[in-house]
Order: sequence, then C-alpha cells, then structure tokens
Amino acid sequence: MFLTPGDPDDLRLGAAAILRQHYGAEATVAARAPGRVNLIGEHVDYHRGPCLPLALEHATHVALRPRDDDRVRLVSRHSDEPWEGTLDECASATGWAAYAAGVLWALRDSGRAVPGLDLAVDSTVPVGAGLSSSAALECAVGVAVASLVDPDLLTTGRRELAQLCIRAEREVAGAPTGGLDQTVAMLAEAGAALLVDFDDDSTHQVPLDLTAEGLALLVTDTRVSHALVDGGYGARREDSEEAARRLGLESLREARLGMLDDLGDERLRRRARHVVTEIERVAATVDALESGDWTAVGGLLDASHASLRDDYEVSCAELDLATTTAREAGALGARMVGGGFGGSAVALVPAERVEAVAAAVDTAFAAAGHRPPAHLRAVASSGAALLG
Ligand code: ADP
Ligand code: MG
Repeated sequence: MFLTPGDPDDLRLGAAAILRQHYGAEATVAARAPGRVNLIGEHVDYHRGPCLPLALEHATHVALRPRDDDRVRLVSRHSDEPWEGTLDECASATGWAAYAAGVLWALRDSGRAVPGLDLAVDSTVPVGAGLSSSAALECAVGVAVASLVDPDLLTTGRRELAQLCIRAEREVAGAPTGGLDQTVAMLAEAGAALLVDFDDDSTHQVPLDLTAEGLALLVTDTRVSHALVDGGYGARREDSEEAARRLGLESLREARLGMLDDLGDERLRRRARHVVTEIERVAATVDALESGDWTAVGGLLDASHASLRDDYEVSCAELDLATTTAREAGALGARMVGGGFGGSAVALVPAERVEAVAAAVDTAFAAAGHRPPAHLRAVASSGAALLG
C-alpha cells in the first residue's frame, strides 16, 4: 500500500468541509504543516548531536474560525472524539486534542491574546508511524493561530513558534519530545534536508534533489510498535548518559572513539559507540550529499542501521526485514528511523526501482507472517505555512 500526500487543495477543502459540517462555520484561516523523516542522526539529539531530517509532502491541514467568546472546539478526521472546552481548559486537554489545545495554551502562556475558536483537522501524515504527525498537528495549529495573534511569529519569530509547539507537546500532551520534529516542521525548505545541530541549535539547509539524480527515498511504515512503556527510550538514554558521566563528559558529543575503551562496561561501550559513530556519520552524509556520492550515502544509511541494531539495540524483526529486503531488491542503503522497536524505515532507491522494492518488502513481510506495511515516497518539502 502506498500512502500518497494527497492534493493540497483537497486537504484544505477537506478541513474546511469538516469545520462546516461539525460547527456550521466557514473557515477564515487555513494552514498546513508537514510530517518529517530523519535521513540520518538517530538517538544523538540528547547528546548534543546533529541530525538531518527532511519535511514530507504529506501534511496536516487545519481550518479555523475565531469566536467571540472563550470556547474552543476541536475536531479531526482522524479521531471520533471532538474536544470542547474553554481557553482556560486547554491546559488540561487530553488525548489527541492535547496536541492542538496545547498550542493555544502555550501561545496564551507567552502573553498572546488567543481568542476562542472552532478548528478542524485533516491530514495525510500517518499517525504514530514515527513520521511526526504530532508536530505536524501542533505546527499547523501554531501557524493558523499565530496569524491571528502575532503574525511576526510566522516570519522572524518562527523559532519561537517552534518552541511554543514543543512546550505544547511536552507540557500539555506530556510527551518527552526532543524538539527536532517541530524544528523541521517549521524551518524546512523544499528541495533540501535540514541539518539541525543540537550542539548550538543551529540549522542549515542541505540541498537534496533526489529526482534530478534519478533516486527516491522510500519510507516503509512497519505499522508495529513493540514499545514497552517508554519504548526503551529511557533505558537507552540512561545508558548513554551514564557512559558520558563515566568518561567525565557532559555529553557524548565531546567523546572520541579511542576514549571508549576506558568504559569498563561492555554494554555502555556499545551504547556510546553508537552515539559517537552516528555523529560522525551525519557529517559524512552531508559531505557525500554535497559531492553527489550516492553510493557513500547508501553505505552510511546501512552503517547507521547496523549500529542502531547491534550497538544501541533499538531495532526489531520488522525493521531488520524491511531494510535487508530493500537492499536485496536494489536499494543503495536503508535504515530504521525514529526511536525504534517499530515505526518506519527509510531506503535510498533508484527511482525506477521504488515499486519493485516496496513489493519485495510486502512479499517478505507476508512470508514472515507480519502485517502488511505501508509505504510512501519522501520528497523534501517546505515547512509550515499559512494558506492564503
Ligand atoms: P508521531 O508523531 O510519530 O506520528 P506521536 O505518538 O508522537 O506519533 O503522535 C501521534 C498522536 O498525535 C496521535 O495519537 C494523536 O493523538 C495525535 N495526532 C497526530 N495527528 C493527528 C490528526 N491528524 N488528528 C488527530 N490527532 C492527531
Ligand atoms: Mg510525534
């Protein structure tokens, strides 16, 4: 199954139609924000490392109408539970609505005079696939509401708006997001990946025109989540932070491979080796992209996967099968993306092999008794925007 990004006009009309149908309201503001996939740089953000995500064409659209009172009504095509409350109650919204109401709360908390409103959501970002549907929702809401309360947030204040969306996810939805998702959803540009360096929070556009190279990025959503409580994220993070402490470092960003022998513990050494080598791989990937060395990019994706599988131990049978099969069917390289234990994988594939690689993965999944996966093409797209 291929998930298409949908016609942007249809999505926009879809959100407006939901608003009309549920609340009898005509939208006065519309906005969109993209999902994202991380090309490389996994499990390094909490060690001040860099990563290289791109925004997808797959996006979340919102349509809203401000109200004269302090009521907030939220509805999404992807939930059968609309939410209704007051502006004050946005701070304690639960479920899917927390991601949207949380943004209203964060904007108010920053001193902006947010009005009551009715808001509808439509989206082609797969939910819970590690492609950041949550940040897409927050950033679409953020842009739409910012246009009403402080339009500077759409231009010079974009980073601040991303921060407010991060606060919504952390403080209202209660998810420990690192902030990458909202950063790329807000700052991405079409035709480029966004190098985000958590050492100094700097961002750089890295041109990525795969179509011109006859290549494509195939994303496969395994549609499984083997996550225990926190997805193993907390345990891996603790291991790698303990490794940094034992080396006397604030984070593994300052570590070098040669130092890791001093870590007595074999498990900690492997965890640290993933972080150190993954940070090196991001820089190598940027170099390879700049020189057009696609074979090297593929090799780096493969090496990232092996490191996440063997050293960080966050892969799973479905992710290993998706990446191995993609390589065997002609991919230049493939790796799991996101936190791990399920979610999605990405493969760099000659454009004419995309369908064949996806079909090979489908066949392998069926033979292994796994649920059919979902595929999409990742095309580097632009960040959140108000729709005129
Ligand atoms: P990811 O961001 O990788 O897709 P998360 O668990 O971070 O996964 O966020 C998924 C959650 O975000 C969903 O469970 C839902 O609560 C909310 N969400 C995202 N997109 C939508 C949408 N279009 N409509 C309703 N809720 C959404
Ligand atoms: Mg998310």
